[in-house]
Amino acid sequence: TPNAETREFSAEVGRMLDLVVHSLYSEREIFLRELVANAADATDRRRFEALTDGARALPEDAKIHINPDKDARLLTITDDGSGMTKEELINNLGTIARSGTRAFGQQLENAKPEDRPSLIGQFGVGFYAAFMVADKVDVVSRRAGSDEAWRWTSDGRGSYTLEPATRDKPGTDITLHIKSDAEEFLDPTRLQTIIRKWSDNIAWPVTILHDGKEETANEGKALWLKPKSEVTEEQLEEFYRHLTHNFDKPWDTLHWRAEGTIEFAALLFIPSMRPFEFAEQTRESKLRLHVRRMFITDEAEILPPWLRFVQGVVDTEDLPLNVSREMLQATPVLARIRKAVTSKVMGELKTRAKDAESYAEFWENFGPVLKEGMWDDPAHRTEVAALSRFRSSAIDGLISLDDYISRMKPEQDAIYYVTGDSAEVLAASPQIEGFKARGVEVLLLSDPVDSFWPERLGTYEGKALRNVAQGMTDLEKFGAPEETSAEKADMEALIPALKDALGEDVSDICATDRLVSSAMVLSAPEGGPDLQLRKLLQRSGQ
Ligand code: ADP
Ligand code: MG
Repeated sequence: TPNAETREFSAEVGRMLDLVVHSLYSEREIFLRELVANAADATDRRRFEALTDGARALPEDAKIHINPDKDARLLTITDDGSGMTKEELINNLGTIARSGTRAFGQQLENAKPEDRPSLIGQFGVGFYAAFMVADKVDVVSRRAGSDEAWRWTSDGRGSYTLEPATRDKPGTDITLHIKSDAEEFLDPTRLQTIIRKWSDNIAWPVTILHDGKEETANEGKALWLKPKSEVTEEQLEEFYRHLTHNFDKPWDTLHWRAEGTIEFAALLFIPSMRPFEFAEQTRESKLRLHVRRMFITDEAEILPPWLRFVQGVVDTEDLPLNVSREMLQATPVLARIRKAVTSKVMGELKTRAKDAESYAEFWENFGPVLKEGMWDDPAHRTEVAALSRFRSSAIDGLISLDDYISRMKPEQDAIYYVTGDSAEVLAASPQIEGFKARGVEVLLLSDPVDSFWPERLGTYEGKALRNVAQGMTDLEKFGAPEETSAEKADMEALIPALKDALGEDVSDICATDRLVSSAMVLSAPEGGPDLQLRKLLQRSGQ
């Protein structure tokens, strides 16, 4: 056609398509899961946009419709979702926008060819999965709120074509030209089975055209609303992957229903891996808020920022479906949900912390985030402290503050810590020599947040947290090594000579019993910012 333009896929998409097309699939059927998931996401998106822009309102009978046409060998998946503009077609289908997908593509590339099919089966490659069963894909899309429609076409070999199209209402049709060895995917009964298996918890109706009749294929009962006993582990994992785009099995799953003054159902996950995009994400919790199954927003900040690694869904009947953002912030319902969900998660962490080995896995991934709670959140500070784990000068592995206290010397009344860039370096640091020599344990704190919380926490179980680098500490009470009078005389001569040499560069020089084999150590003045904090402030130009 005269208005058509052809564009190249980005290099990453090209490689991804190559991997997809050149692997043999035991689980090709997952292409349908991917396309239906996208259709559901797009329908959620439109519903949410319609709250602030009536022109985008979702039709009453919004659904995802699958139409297999055996004679023409075409399979079409139609939705009433947000649709895509021309730019969105280019960005969403011609490049890999999500860094998680990009990282998965790399993982796929590095995998042995014989392992790729199962990787793709388990995790999916999103939209590009369509090319496992189709030698050509047509996408016709009209953005909700716009009259324009565009057609995107590709055979998945390096380039795609864009041209103006018509569509009588907003939404998207994805038409697959089914490969000759994939005709099974034109059989409505087969499609029905696939939807039941993979997409049953999609909240929108999924229908299939079967002998001229529209049949509903999914149960549409959101997984989180089902009684626990009716939900299998496979379904939970599948839902977790769909929800989070993560590739692991969850480290923990919380599924419960709150009844009483406030009613809601929740299904939450803690990943067993730090998600690829975790560092880039904002500090806000992205838990999804649903009202009677309908997705409302993932910006309700149901959990505090220091629990932002928890992902999942909270569904309540106590809010109206058309709840606006402003109303959400004002309603006491949300405040109650927040409180209940936070205390449930904290209780769960407390239970899981009893298994030190498995808790250590969690701690490696998300400990630095959880610790922010000691800085951020006065109401939970002590609870977070009890759940925190640390490296220590006394033993390998992780310890808790309670462990530390149980090993304190009888004359000891403070919890000593040192901050720096790595626990290994700190373990050998002259700052703690004197403590080690006297058998006093020191916490080795090496996360950036460690420069901030100890002062806020102040004390734990009545014991002050004390930075070993901060001024002279009372090591004598642990039995200072005896000093000969000759050493004392040497020291009395050395200090004035050093003061002379260093002049204004230091505020004081004094003898210390903190060192054993090192000659000297830099120390921050008592009450001033500690050395690690100074470094951080310097780095950020303050
Ligand atoms: P992901 O779903 O993980 O973002 P996909 O490859 O499955 O990755 O899809 C890429 C993007 O294409 C989606 O994020 C979405 O923006 C867009 N997209 C795909 N299918 C649809 C659809 N049916 N309606 C609207 N947008 C879609
Ligand atoms: Mg997708």
